[in-house]
Amino acid sequence: MLRRRLLAAAFDPLVVGALAAGVSGQVLPAAAEAPLEADVALVDDLVAANHILYDQGVVDGFGHVSVRHDKDPSRFLLARSMAPGLVVAGDIMEFDRDGNAIDARGRAVYLERFIHSEIYKTHPEVKAVVHSHSPAVIPFGVTGVPLRPIYHMSAFLGTGVPVFEIRQASPTPTDMLISNNELGAALARTLGNANVALMRGHGDVVVGQSLPQVVFRAVYTEINARLEGEALRLGEVNFLSGEEAAKASKVDDAILGRAWELWQQQARAKR
Ligand code: MN
Repeated sequence: MLRRRLLAAAFDPLVVGALAAGVSGQVLPAAAEAPLEADVALVDDLVAANHILYDQGVVDGFGHVSVRHDKDPSRFLLARSMAPGLVVAGDIMEFDRDGNAIDARGRAVYLERFIHSEIYKTHPEVKAVVHSHSPAVIPFGVTGVPLRPIYHMSAFLGTGVPVFEIRQASPTPTDMLISNNELGAALARTLGNANVALMRGHGDVVVGQSLPQVVFRAVYTEINARLEGEALRLGEVNFLSGEEAAKASKVDDAILGRAWELWQQQARAKR
């Protein structure tokens, strides 16, 4: 495999051009990065994650999910710019640590890919990222009412989640989008060690150590927000304590494969 890649590189016009430039004493351009073939099962899971998030109401025509590349941890996989519910394996693209497409081949890319690149760069333990405009979380990003775990299924919310204020990250008013590395880096800093960060007037970002885990968390962040909103209308809310959340979170991690299997089968049956 490596041999084949090296042979391919030797005949790559960009590489040959760079070598020629070197021989003639000119400055060598940066080496063209070659795409690395990702594990087929990982790509399949990323396609499934796109469909599940749409089926479960976390994303609509907008929002995206990515996974860290299995062959090179500095890279990640993310669909081309399109509705998540329609993604197929051929739409999955590879990006470098700064959010540049490695194998664009004319495909359009998401404006907010820097959410993913900067989180992977800042948080080595994160293996998968979801960004959405998950509707029930929006009120919690704009009111100062904290989003906290109302039941055991959303124990990963811990003692509450940070809110990203884009006004603090940009000296001039923005269009609210994370459209460059600097804004992505500021969001990644706000996330810190939390599993979820709300984005004021925009949506949220959810991270995990696998696609099934990040999908589970994104779905239950939306459900928790809906239930918490309902509970707040009834009266004072008795949330999980930090200790309860930590313990319940461990159980959820052990059993979330059950939800993934169900959602994946439903997603396949629909398409
Ligand atoms: Mn967005």
